[in-house]
Amino acid sequence: MSRFLNERLQGLEAYVPGEQPRVMNLIKLNTNESPFPPAPGVKEAAEKAAGTLQLYNDLTAAGLIRLLADTWGLEPDEITVSNGSDEILAFAFQAFGGHGLVFPDITYGFYPVWAALYGLDAEIVPLDEDFGVDIRDYCGRNDRCIVLANPNAPTGRALPLSDLESIVAGNPDQVVIVDEAYVDFGAESAAALVPKYENLLVVQTFSKSRQLAGGRLGFAMGSSALIGDLNRVRYSFHPYNVNSMTQAAGEAALRQPEYFEACRKTIMENREWTEKQLAALGFRVLPSKANFLFASAPGIGGKAYQEKLRERNILIRYFDWPRVRDFVRITIGSMAQMEALIQATKEILT
Ligand code: PMP
Repeated sequence: MSRFLNERLQGLEAYVPGEQPRVMNLIKLNTNESPFPPAPGVKEAAEKAAGTLQLYNDLTAAGLIRLLADTWGLEPDEITVSNGSDEILAFAFQAFGGHGLVFPDITYGFYPVWAALYGLDAEIVPLDEDFGVDIRDYCGRNDRCIVLANPNAPTGRALPLSDLESIVAGNPDQVVIVDEAYVDFGAESAAALVPKYENLLVVQTFSKSRQLAGGRLGFAMGSSALIGDLNRVRYSFHPYNVNSMTQAAGEAALRQPEYFEACRKTIMENREWTEKQLAALGFRVLPSKANFLFASAPGIGGKAYQEKLRERNILIRYFDWPRVRDFVRITIGSMAQMEALIQATKEILT
C-alpha cells in the first residue's frame, strides 16, 4: 500500500475472483463459465464491429436494448446495460444503498466488497441451517435495500417467484435487487414482475447461460425511474461502458434462442447426472438451480478435496468462510468434464 491511498480505502478487502490460469489441459470448473462456445454468428458479429473500432461505440446501446426489451416484453427505458453484471450491481449498490443494505451471510462475495467500497452499511442475515433464504427475514422490513441472488451463489438454492414477490411487495419504500446471474438453469425470473413494482431491480448477465463471460455484458431491468437512476450513475462514471464488439456479440447471441435453450438444457442434464454421482459417493449436495453444485465431500474437508483435484488438473472453488468449510462449488461443464471429475473423486476417496 502506498502512503497516498485514500484513508477510507485502506482497510478495503478486495474481492478475490476464482483463479484464471492460462494452462492447457485443465478442467476448469471453478468460475461458472459455460463449457460451450459462443452462439453461431457471435464471432462474425464481433469481427464486423471490430471494423469500426476507430469510432466510439453507441453509448445508448440502442440496438441491443431494443432486442433485450423485445425478448423480455419490456420497454427500452426499463433496461440498461453494463460491462458485466458486476458493474450494474456496483452502480445499484451506490444508487440505492444509501439507507444501508441487507443480504445473506453466504452469498456472492462481491456484495460486502461493494458495500465497503462505497461506505454503505451492510446487515448480514444468516441463511437457515439448510442454507436457504428464510423470507421472513426480508418481508416487511422496508428500512434498507435488499439484495438477493436468485439462485443464490454459491449455494445454488432458489426461491420461487411467489416468495420474491412477497419480499418486493413487502418493502415498497426500498429497492429490492434480484441478482439473476444463474436464473436460466432452472429458476423463475422476477423480470415478469418489473411492470408491476417500481421498487424491483432485476439484474442478469450474458456470462453464464449465453456463453459471453469474456465479452463482459450484463443488464438490469426495472421501472423506467430506477433505470434512469442507474443511467445517472453510469453517465457519471463511464457512459461508453459496453464496447461495440460486445454490443454486437450480445445482439447476435440473443438472435439464437435455440442455441441458448440447447446449452442450458445440457447443463441442467449434466447437473442432474453429477448430483446423483456425488450423492452415491456420500456427498451432501444442495439442491441446485444454477450451473454449479455446492457439495460437501465425505470425510475430507472442502480445501483438501479441492487441492487433491487440482493435483489432477481439475479446478473447483473452495470458500474459506464460516459454516461452509466442508463444501466446494463445482461448475457444471461438459459430460466429459463431469465424468473426469467423478473418476478423480473416486480415486481421491478410496
Ligand atoms: N452475480 C453473481 C451471483 C455471480 O456469481 C457473478 C459471477 N461472478 C456475477 C453476478 C457477475 O458476473 P458478470 O460480471 O460476469 O456478469
